[in-house]
Amino acid sequence: MPIALYPGTFDPVTNGHIDIAERASGIFRKVIAVVADNPHKSCLFSTDERVEMLSSSLERFKNIEVIKYSGLVANCLDEHKASVIIRGLRALSDFDYEFQMAFTNRELNEKAETVFLMPNSKYTYLSSTMVRQLAKFDGDISAFVPRNVGDHLKEKLLAL
Ligand code: ADP
Repeated sequence: MPIALYPGTFDPVTNGHIDIAERASGIFRKVIAVVADNPHKSCLFSTDERVEMLSSSLERFKNIEVIKYSGLVANCLDEHKASVIIRGLRALSDFDYEFQMAFTNRELNEKAETVFLMPNSKYTYLSSTMVRQLAKFDGDISAFVPRNVGDHLKEKLLAL
């Protein structure tokens, strides 16, 4: 059974991300969640904060490891002897972009197989962007993110 990478920005991790990670952990021997460490992308949380929140959210899954990575996922695969890229598919709107990425990654690394997993339908409309917006306007995000992430969000927005 191959090792799978689960790459993303996770700014911040949501229950939708966790749902996908849990499904992947039940299928693959080992899953490595890869937090994008990209200085050109402006994120609310630093890379280390995103890694920390993701790690504590996925702690209970013993075959999931969390790392940060600043290069291409296609190269990260080889470095970790992995061949599968896990991505979550919420709706048709995700498809175009994901389709492009999957083919680009296979172009860059012929071993790369992208596997799409669908979350529980209650997370279909959930995104990190939506959570950040809701939090900014003091909306109730308790159904969308783990408690520690909600606390971090409040702290972060107060400090801005
Ligand atoms: P990226 O910038 O790489 O898209 P994200 O953190 O936004 O990073 O998403 C990482 C992965 O998690 C993507 O495959 C995305 O489709 C998936 N994802 C995000 N939110 C959800 C959700 N609510 N349900 C299922 N998958 C999700």
